[in-house]
Amino acid sequence: MAYRAPVNDFQFLFDRVVGLNQVVATDLFSEASSDVTEAILAEAGKLCETVLAPLQRNGDLHPAVLENGVVRTSPGFGEGYKAIAEGGWVGIAANPKYGGMGLPHTVTTAVNEMMSGACLSLQLNPLMTQGQIEALDHHASNELKAVYLPKLISGEWSGTMNLTEPQAGSDVGALRSKATDNGDGSFSISGQKIFISWGDNDFTENVCHLVLARLPDGVAGTKGISLFMVPKYIPNGDGTLGKANTLKVVSLEHKLGLHGSPTAVMQFDDAQGWLVGAPHGGMKAMFTMMNNARLGVGVQGIGQAEGAYQHALAYAMDRKQGKTPVQGSGAIIDHADVRRMLAQMKADTYAARAIALECAVAIDMARATGDGEWNARAAFLTPIAKAFGTDVGCEVSQMGVQVHGGMGFIEETGAAQYARDVRVTAIYEGTNGIQAMDLVARKLMDGGEAAERILDDIEANAEAARSAFPKLTGKVWRAAETLRETTEWMLTRDDLNDRFAGAVPYLRGFARVLGGHYHLKSAVAEGGEGPRTRLAAFYIERMLPEHAALLAHARAGAAGLYDITTDDLIT
Ligand SMILES: Cc1cc2nc3c(=O)[nH]c(=O)nc-3n(C[C@H](O)[C@H](O)[C@H](O)COP(=O)(O)OP(=O)(O)OC[C@H]3O[C@@H](n4cnc5c(N)ncnc54)[C@H](O)[C@@H]3O)c2cc1C
Repeated sequence: MAYRAPVNDFQFLFDRVVGLNQVVATDLFSEASSDVTEAILAEAGKLCETVLAPLQRNGDLHPAVLENGVVRTSPGFGEGYKAIAEGGWVGIAANPKYGGMGLPHTVTTAVNEMMSGACLSLQLNPLMTQGQIEALDHHASNELKAVYLPKLISGEWSGTMNLTEPQAGSDVGALRSKATDNGDGSFSISGQKIFISWGDNDFTENVCHLVLARLPDGVAGTKGISLFMVPKYIPNGDGTLGKANTLKVVSLEHKLGLHGSPTAVMQFDDAQGWLVGAPHGGMKAMFTMMNNARLGVGVQGIGQAEGAYQHALAYAMDRKQGKTPVQGSGAIIDHADVRRMLAQMKADTYAARAIALECAVAIDMARATGDGEWNARAAFLTPIAKAFGTDVGCEVSQMGVQVHGGMGFIEETGAAQYARDVRVTAIYEGTNGIQAMDLVARKLMDGGEAAERILDDIEANAEAARSAFPKLTGKVWRAAETLRETTEWMLTRDDLNDRFAGAVPYLRGFARVLGGHYHLKSAVAEGGEGPRTRLAAFYIERMLPEHAALLAHARAGAAGLYDITTDDLIT
């Protein structure tokens, strides 16, 4: 089935649920009026439906290959990328001073979701570049910005992010790549990086690698790491391309999915690079890129969930099997279990989308106002948006296979590709386990203030909805109270490992409750009757109760976990 961009959902969420109007009310984003965002969503939606979605299968069937040291991308990807670049979509949120559109991150988030739903493996390329643009804008010298930002924003050059090494995955601090000062303002970078997304391509003039490496006086661990810009071709002073740098793609990985995205092993041999940010301040600079990318990856999961849902829905409306218990088309969509699966898929995709957009609104408000509370909210919601968005992507695409029955296991329906492609989103950009640990450790270091403020909002909203939806409101309010108690439990643990043992169920429980909140808000905004209200009732009555089990698990602590010894696991 052809991909349909969920433009109406975005507009509804912008206008009625997450409050894009407060972003537009700031000086920084005053140009992003409703008319402008409507036109942008429509334009991006058209690009996704007509240009990008037809490429999704190409990437799967004809993966990127390495030929004589050169990466050859999947058929049509070059043209698809050109359409993204020429439309200005790479620099949609970037600084206008360097050619960007300067639109709110909330709008970018919606556009990125649609592009991910249409063709995930191609969309990963501009996503990486967007993160790099933001990192350079915040941390690079004016000279570097002047050379790189206009080219990255126009999409003539693309950007990558080089952290991972064989011994340094989640533990980035274990990296061994080295940098030495050339004494002329540049550095020599040597080392091997693995799993580098879009490490090379055959459609941008240059590929700009942001590489983490250690200077000779860099201490062990993350505090001794610096960040460098290491381009494939070294730009001349006038911005034209000069000689090739001493770096290469050694090989491309054979993967479970995402075949259209070349995942490279990169070798840097005294490659010339330039410092971004302060010496040994690499993690700080890279965090700008990683935070942007974490929300971006969460949104990749949601985009894939949307695509998988649309595929499954079309199949369920067409496939006839057995006598259905209710009068209708007689297709499998009328069987209770198939209807349950479709409703769950739709309700969770919506919940994850609302969380991601709320996180983006907080990012925009923090930027526009400099208010610490918005900053704390954005920081708190980022790991939830990443982990829940990608978990939903994985679960919804698995359910999509199930809805198709045996045909889901057959590649030509495309259902299996969603399940394979989206799987990595729960792994890269910090595994979902690491996201959950960040939530219960760093993000609760404020004594739970950011969490409490979100819970206060949920309860205030529930109170306001009580007369219209007494039953649904009570369930959301009580769930928020259980979440509050669990948050307090987390805060009173002296041993962090007690928190870590329950981190994943805590994050998931938080997302479940937030989902109830946004569904309830949507029902109220709809006026109490209609498809959003019926979906809200389904979510709150049947899916929200999961929070109780999740949060009980979150409060169980570490001791019982280690009662199961390694030997127990072996025998
Ligand atoms: C397709 C693909 C594209 C990628 N693109 C890029 C890229 O562009 N740039 C880049 O730099 N990297 C990239 N990566 C690497 C990716 O970010 C890492 O794979 C990821 O961070 C996990 O690291 P790891 O694979 O070494 O797993 P490990 O760190 O070995 O983790 C294995 C398991 O242990 C858990 N674990 C590890 N440490 C802890 C801990 N302290 N506490 C609790 N649990 C822990 C993890 O959650 C995981 O479940 C990519 C990976 C893939 C597969």
